[in-house]
Amino acid sequence: MKFVCKIMKSVLIMCLVLSSIVGSLNVSAQDSETDAETGASEVTADFTHPDDLAESYDVIVIGAGGGGMAAAIAAKDAGSNVAIFEKMPILGGNTLKSSAGMNASESKFQEAEGIEDSNELFFEETMAGGHDTNDEELVHYLVDNSASAIEWLDSMGITLSSITTTGGMSVPRAHRPEAGSAIGGYLVDGLQRNVFEREIPTFVNANVTEILEEDGVVTGVQVNIEGNEHQVNAKAVIIATGGFGGNLEMVTDNNPDLEGFVTTNHEGATGDGLVMAQEVGAQLVDMDQIQIHPTVEQETSYLITEAVRGEGAILVNKEGERFFNELDTRDAVSQAILSQTDSSAYVIFDQALRGRVKAIDQYEKMGLVKVGDTIEELATTIELDPEVLSQTLSIWNDSVANGTDDNFARTTGMEIALEEAPFYAIKIAPGIHHTMGGLKINTNAQVLNEADEAITGLYAAGEASGGVHGSNRIGGNAIADIIIFGRQAGEQSALFVN
Ligand SMILES: Cc1cc2nc3c(=O)[nH]c(=O)nc-3n(C[C@H](O)[C@H](O)[C@H](O)COP(=O)(O)OP(=O)(O)OC[C@H]3O[C@@H](n4cnc5c(N)ncnc54)[C@H](O)[C@@H]3O)c2cc1C
Repeated sequence: MKFVCKIMKSVLIMCLVLSSIVGSLNVSAQDSETDAETGASEVTADFTHPDDLAESYDVIVIGAGGGGMAAAIAAKDAGSNVAIFEKMPILGGNTLKSSAGMNASESKFQEAEGIEDSNELFFEETMAGGHDTNDEELVHYLVDNSASAIEWLDSMGITLSSITTTGGMSVPRAHRPEAGSAIGGYLVDGLQRNVFEREIPTFVNANVTEILEEDGVVTGVQVNIEGNEHQVNAKAVIIATGGFGGNLEMVTDNNPDLEGFVTTNHEGATGDGLVMAQEVGAQLVDMDQIQIHPTVEQETSYLITEAVRGEGAILVNKEGERFFNELDTRDAVSQAILSQTDSSAYVIFDQALRGRVKAIDQYEKMGLVKVGDTIEELATTIELDPEVLSQTLSIWNDSVANGTDDNFARTTGMEIALEEAPFYAIKIAPGIHHTMGGLKINTNAQVLNEADEAITGLYAAGEASGGVHGSNRIGGNAIADIIIFGRQAGEQSALFVN
């Protein structure tokens, strides 16, 4: 029997109601707002009824964010019998919230736009972003398989043909849907559609609490589905549970400096997979490397996508002045903001830029955006010195015209001046965003033990794994990570079980 919840557009609201009826887990308002933000179109949820749970599967995927769904699709296409367990009432995890895009080099869409890029440059910039602490082999695998991942998604009707820039990249590399909109809702819709088309059993409100093993070989999982406990056998288990950025206790245990920061993460990002895998001997890496994102609205913990700066916005401090290269790496920009008056800043942009980043409509709906018909009026509204802000904009627009930023050496996201009224501002400060550490994996996405040996039958992908990003992730590299290593975990686990 199928547990069918078929709805158009309102699936998240329906599932929220459903989840409150069935009890246990819930989803934050920001998730449904993100759906509105990303314009997720026709979502059809087709979850499997708990009565249809089998005693065993070839492959079990824990977690249905982008990494888990990519893994399940790849495992199924490689001929294995795969099931997904997701603890929330909907699929998507942090992937649903992602906004700026997915990085890839030498892609067909870059070529179509005449963007010159190379895997080597992508490798160098990822390593530089991570201060050369990244796992080089994983980064090579990531960049070398990025263009084919874009093709793979395209072959499933997930077309990321519009390209923008994020911090730390010298060329446009962040792929997003054609309309120039945020990636998350579109990607999750597309992956979910492909999961359902393949009739992959997908259980929601299914909280995996233990990975089962015998003599060092993984044998299945313990899962609680809507209040009922089950032991389910599997020849391979893929951990795609995401990071722990929503678990503030685990964050501060690993990095006490982050006490008091808000988080952009969904409430299911609690690090379960890391704890469960550690119990079967997995090695963790880089656990203290937790990224704070520079531009988070503090009242709502809502992320202001890097694409806004990528499309040309600037940051100004309370004195109305620019203070840093807005598209430097996230760690550097965050630290620069934290050293300004009140440890905060404003993202400033104009009407033309607004048209290039659809997510801004959502920010406005949420009341995050201040507006002024002139720069001076905007300055008055946000209580900055009108003369100084006007002067700042004028210097910036000269820099754009000359193609050189003498003050802060910014080189990207400066193609178009900020000169079309009205003008806008969003007040921001840094917030916890991404946990770069996690399970140590090899390029086959196998989880390694303390002796760097693969644990038989255990795979991991996405934010649950560590090493790809080193001590600082480049914007757009997480979605690349989850799709590329999710796909690899699916293919490799299927090879192992067949
Ligand atoms: C606001 C925001 C914007 C972002 N924008 C971008 C961007 O533009 N580009 C980019 O590259 N990155 C971006 N990121 C980062 C990126 O979205 C994440 O790193 C990535 O989506 C993680 O994918 P994942 O599949 O590993 O985990 P998730 O998408 O978080 O999915 C993990 C799933 O596992 C489930 N789960 C957890 N524990 C269990 C359990 N015990 N049992 C069953 N299920 C479980 C969770 O509920 C969740 O659904 C953004 C992140 C945020 C928060």
